[in-house]
This record gives sequence, structure tokens and C-alpha cells, in this order.
Amino acid sequence: MARYKDAVCRLCRREGMKLFLKGQKCFTEKCPIEKRNFAPGQHGKDRKAKIVGYGLQLREKQKTKRMYFTLEKQFRNYFEKAARTKGVTGEMLLQQLERRLDNVVYRLGFAVARRQARQLVRHGHIEVNGKKVNIPSYQVSAGDTVAVRERSRKLVIVEQAKEVASHQAVPTWMSADRDNYTAKVLSLPRREEIAMPVNEQLIVELYSK
Ligand code: SF4
Repeated sequence: MARYKDAVCRLCRREGMKLFLKGQKCFTEKCPIEKRNFAPGQHGKDRKAKIVGYGLQLREKQKTKRMYFTLEKQFRNYFEKAARTKGVTGEMLLQQLERRLDNVVYRLGFAVARRQARQLVRHGHIEVNGKKVNIPSYQVSAGDTVAVRERSRKLVIVEQAKEVASHQAVPTWMSADRDNYTAKVLSLPRREEIAMPVNEQLIVELYSK
């Protein structure tokens, strides 16, 4: 399966903001955004033009796609499905992204970044309703239980994530028992429950051209 292999911090620098792709490093002064908050590349520092119109829509789409660590084709498929779903298209798009199993694992604090959560899922450390699921894009549903598999709970990255997550709240659409590495999806997330600095309407406008 295709995946992004370049240095991920370049993505943040391109968007001019932290996308939190690296876990704990994102909260330290080693984060490149702290030192070099300009676009990567030879002329990155010189790009100062104000972005409007199409450029603005494009950047919003790229930023969102990169935050959830999805590739273009998959992101586009989410949009098309959202457009066919009853409800506000932008909200339906974000809802699908939030329901991804790798995102859920990250939001629950079982991993410090979505990228790490994806690795946990792919390597078979996560189960849904008692069965191993190793598909990061798996969509959770209301009533599902999500857990770190018993044999995986002693992994260093899982224990470290638990420590970090002790300061973070669980999204209101889920409940978690972090001591036992289990959680339940209470309902599908509504827009106000999705804490993402995204203007999804710009993405809808871009894809609706
Ligand atoms: Fe982005 Fe994190 Fe890298 Fe900073 S450390 S540039 S927030 S991925």
C-alpha cells in the first residue's frame, strides 16, 4: 500500500503550523517549526505572498489530509462518500476521518501520534469487539469496544503513550478505561466534538469545483 516516506516535519513547515505528526518531539524545542517556521526548500523563506481563493482551499485540504496522514486518493474517496451521505458534507468528511481506527487509537492516548497509532494497528496490537483488526482505515461504529491486546500492553511505546495521555482528555464521543487499555465508542462524533483547527467548508468548495 502506498504511503508517505519523506521527512514528516517538512509537511508541518509547508503548512506553516504544527500538525503533531511526531509525538513528543512536537512539544519540545526540537520541533523544526520552533526554529524554522518557513516552507522547506531553497526558496521557502522567500514565499511571503498572501494566499487567497483556490490557494487557500488547497492548503486547507493539504493540511487536513496531512494531519490525518492520508494520501490524496483515500482523502478524495472520503470526500465523495461524505457528499453521498445525509448531513453536512464537511462534517461528514471529518467524521469519517475521526472514525478511522488509527485516529481512535491516537485520540484514546494509546499512541502519542497518529503515525505511531497506525503502526500499532498494522502490527496487530489493537482489537475491536474482541477481535484483532490490523486495518488503520477501519471505521469504528457506535457501540464498538476498542482495546490494546493483552499481550501488547507492556510495549514501551504503549506505556509511554499512557503516561503522556494521563494529562489529556478523552473525546466526549468515547469513554476510556486507560488503566485497562480499553475504550468504548459512545456515538459518532459531531463537528463540535472534533477538535481540529480545520475549515472543512474550504475543502468542500475545492472538491466541488
Ligand atoms: Fe510537526 Fe511535530 Fe515535526 Fe514539529 S516535531 S514539525 S509538530 S511533526
